[in-house]
Amino acid sequence: MAIKTIAIIGAGPVGLAAAAQALERGLSPVVLEQGPAAGHAIRQWAHVPMFSPWAFNVDGAAERLLVKAGWTRPDPDRYPTGGDIVSDYVAPLAEKTTLRERVRYNAEVISVSRVGFDKVKSAGRDAALFLLRYRNGETISKLTADAVIDTSGTWFSPNPAGSGGVPASGESEAAKRISYGMPDVLGQARPRYAGKRIAVLGGGHSAIGTLIALAELQEASPSTEITWLYRGTILSKAFGGGAADQLSARGELGLQIADLVERGRIRALTGFRLERVEADEAELRLASDEESNQIATVDELIVATGFRPDLSLLRELRVELDPALECTPTLAPLIDPNIHSCGTVRPHGAAELAHPEPGFYIAGMKAYGRAPTFLLATGHEQVRSIVAELAGDHVAARRVELVLPETGVCSSTPGGPSQAKTSCCGGPAPVAVDACCAEDAKAKAAGEAGCGCGSVQRETREPAEV
Ligand SMILES: Cc1cc2nc3c(=O)[nH]c(=O)nc-3n(C[C@H](O)[C@H](O)[C@H](O)COP(=O)(O)OP(=O)(O)OC[C@H]3O[C@@H](n4cnc5c(N)ncnc54)[C@H](O)[C@@H]3O)c2cc1C
Repeated sequence: MAIKTIAIIGAGPVGLAAAAQALERGLSPVVLEQGPAAGHAIRQWAHVPMFSPWAFNVDGAAERLLVKAGWTRPDPDRYPTGGDIVSDYVAPLAEKTTLRERVRYNAEVISVSRVGFDKVKSAGRDAALFLLRYRNGETISKLTADAVIDTSGTWFSPNPAGSGGVPASGESEAAKRISYGMPDVLGQARPRYAGKRIAVLGGGHSAIGTLIALAELQEASPSTEITWLYRGTILSKAFGGGAADQLSARGELGLQIADLVERGRIRALTGFRLERVEADEAELRLASDEESNQIATVDELIVATGFRPDLSLLRELRVELDPALECTPTLAPLIDPNIHSCGTVRPHGAAELAHPEPGFYIAGMKAYGRAPTFLLATGHEQVRSIVAELAGDHVAARRVELVLPETGVCSSTPGGPSQAKTSCCGGPAPVAVDACCAEDAKAKAAGEAGCGCGSVQRETREPAEV
């Protein structure tokens, strides 16, 4: 079936890039965005400095559209905040280019199916149009399309605080003293946190970014107490590649947090798997499981334990997902933090992201499911390839057009930044090889089990978080 219309869910940077790619190929995209403006998710973390400079954050087709509308590309070496990405890129792309007529706002997609087909019915299925139902205030509207790309991200479905992936006992009752993601502790949320005892739960970049911001707040309000609740036992794993990280700002985060912990500005409790939350008028008591048997008494808890995809809207589609990561089974071994936390993921596209439902793809942050290492540049390459495939250009769909920066560390490098080597795993695995990195591919070709980073027992690993 020749594809003409593409419905795109979410006007984040990757959804808009998909629409720009589609326009360039003469297809007709419609973007449905639940928020009142483009970049609705990024607007929630507008205050956060990004660790990738502009050079890695702009899609090629989007740039071509913007340049036609008189846009000047920001300095490629400068590091934007989330807010800069919205004001200097995402908003002009959605409002000042020909994409303007293609985006519908306040349009929350609640289901995607095939017209006249439930999930079970097969005969003739592939020829049926997709049907998207979306909510606009009180009204439910419908849109049909030949293909669908779900780029709705994961920001609005954060993981709960409980260590088993379910809310800790008492978590919802204590909601007033808990926030999720990355609150703006130096800006709008400052009064809530200044001079308070604050616990941050998590081990990824969001937790570390928030801890560093709280340390800055502590300089102005010295009575602020910061506790870092870390589920793993080896704190240095959270520090990342340090100076060996090819995204130097990302490496710098690890170096800064290591220094703050060492100087006692941040108290770190390791092995802290949150089990129970008790709140009263005065404070919040956070209890770990029996094994580590620790209690933290604080005023506020910030939960930064990563995000998960909302799959409810895809219930009637034939979607195939890795049982652990909730990304496609082909992508899973390349990004599984259990076996390989290094960022040397090879660029991937339509082939790795295909589902048993022809014409349907998940791309962008949501494509990584629960894995934490997604980069915008990866998302742009994903949608370039997917749109090429939908347009029938299979050669372009399989071509790799991206070199990703490496983190400079992988989970097989114990000891964190000080022991990390650049290209620890020799870079990404070649395309069409079932291996997590170049070293792994080499070892497998020689008849071995793998390079070592994938052969370490799963249970001894401590997956990173976003
Ligand atoms: C704090 C933070 C910092 C990051 N820093 C970096 C960085 O430095 N470098 C980097 O490369 N990456 C970074 N990332 C990762 C990633 O690049 C960003 O999350 C990026 O915004 C992902 O883009 P996206 O378009 O896939 O999703 P999003 O930006 O999350 O956009 C999804 C859109 O879909 C909409 N939506 C959701 N559900 C629906 C629905 N049902 N119907 C309609 N619309 C819907 C949302 O409102 C949103 O507008 C960061 C992520 C976070 C959270």
